[in-house]
Amino acid sequence: MDARCDVAVVGGGLLGLATARALARRGLAVILLEQADVGHDGCGSKGSCRIFRLGYDDPGWVRMAERAREPWAELEEECGRPLLHPAPHLTFGPGLDAVRAAMHSAGAPHELLAAAEAAARFPQLPVGGPALLEPASCVISADAALRALAAAVPDIRTGAAVTGIADDGRRVTVRTASGPVTAGAAVVCAGPWTSALLAAGGITVPSAPTLEQVGYVAPRAEPGPAMPIFICHGAEVPYGLPVPGSPLYKIGFDHSGPPADPGSQEQGPDPVLSARLSGLARRYLPGFDPELARAERCVYDNSPDEDFIVDRVGRIVIGSGTSGHGFKFGPLLGEWLADLATGQDADPAARRFSLGRFRAAGAH
Ligand SMILES: Cc1cc2nc3c(=O)[nH]c(=O)nc-3n(C[C@H](O)[C@H](O)[C@H](O)COP(=O)(O)OP(=O)(O)OC[C@H]3O[C@@H](n4cnc5c(N)ncnc54)[C@H](O)[C@@H]3O)c2cc1C
Repeated sequence: MDARCDVAVVGGGLLGLATARALARRGLAVILLEQADVGHDGCGSKGSCRIFRLGYDDPGWVRMAERAREPWAELEEECGRPLLHPAPHLTFGPGLDAVRAAMHSAGAPHELLAAAEAAARFPQLPVGGPALLEPASCVISADAALRALAAAVPDIRTGAAVTGIADDGRRVTVRTASGPVTAGAAVVCAGPWTSALLAAGGITVPSAPTLEQVGYVAPRAEPGPAMPIFICHGAEVPYGLPVPGSPLYKIGFDHSGPPADPGSQEQGPDPVLSARLSGLARRYLPGFDPELARAERCVYDNSPDEDFIVDRVGRIVIGSGTSGHGFKFGPLLGEWLADLATGQDADPAARRFSLGRFRAAGAH
């Protein structure tokens, strides 16, 4: 394929697409290389929906989520359809106070509901205690978001696995089976494959992928009152969200899957994880049949501290480590990675995501 461009982007998941779109909008010639297809079964961005929440236990993350709204609105305007569907969000469990304090400190809208009030206002989700109501949360139509981003990237090459990247200080050469792509910079957004791809070039990116499982449950009868999103912050972190345009409700336990090799993922449901998900439905979703209507596996690209990785080494920019909570930040991260690829300084809020923090922590 011998080709030249301003920036080569590796990976056609959320981050690669968002970065390629941001670069194309800045007038740069971009080639995006994806080893399979956009949104394929083995990538971390697949599926129908994701949670957009402001509720983190760290004001920095709350503020970052607030900033992430504007680039989503721009994408919605560009593609001419809503991608974020407003839905109330209930946070509960032992971590509620920390989330409340962070939201308060960041000035994000929230309301504390006493147990009786939570039960009265949300009988369809009996949380069994006080809950923090977030009025500004949404469900993201994830598959539609990927399509909208991809539509804004003029040159996407699927079935193009990158086998190595060399940086000679003046340009990068991105190798694929069908020939090299030469570019002024490369942005690697290869999710849990990033670490192995860059190791050969001497760049260490820590990643500990896990294979998660989510389930979808169906209402027992006619759909009742609209379902809120929920997250319980405790020793376990069960969560749930309505699926846009469907009566199904999606449920999961954050960070509950086994370690995984991203190159050989078992896509079949794990009966133990399925049983846990049915137990979750029995506990929190009285209006739904606890037997899973469908289960889905999906890979998390975990960094050691669950913060993202956004950094540049020479002419190679890295966007990875999204640790199961990156979707809501996709278009914002795309802008930050595009800044780095065009030689600009990192956004001040992105500095916490440098690779240097692992060296400081002793991870080499
Ligand atoms: C079950 C589950 C639930 C989630 N829920 C939420 C949520 O509610 N809210 C939220 O904000 N986030 C959530 N996330 C996280 C979010 O989906 C991810 O953070 C995000 O989609 C990761 O995108 P990515 O582009 O980094 O990685 P990926 O989507 O994995 O994309 C990487 C791409 O790179 C390609 N690639 C790899 N190696 C090469 C190569 N050598 N050459 C070419 N291409 C290559 C891969 O094929 C892949 O398509 C969830 C994730 C999962 C799995």
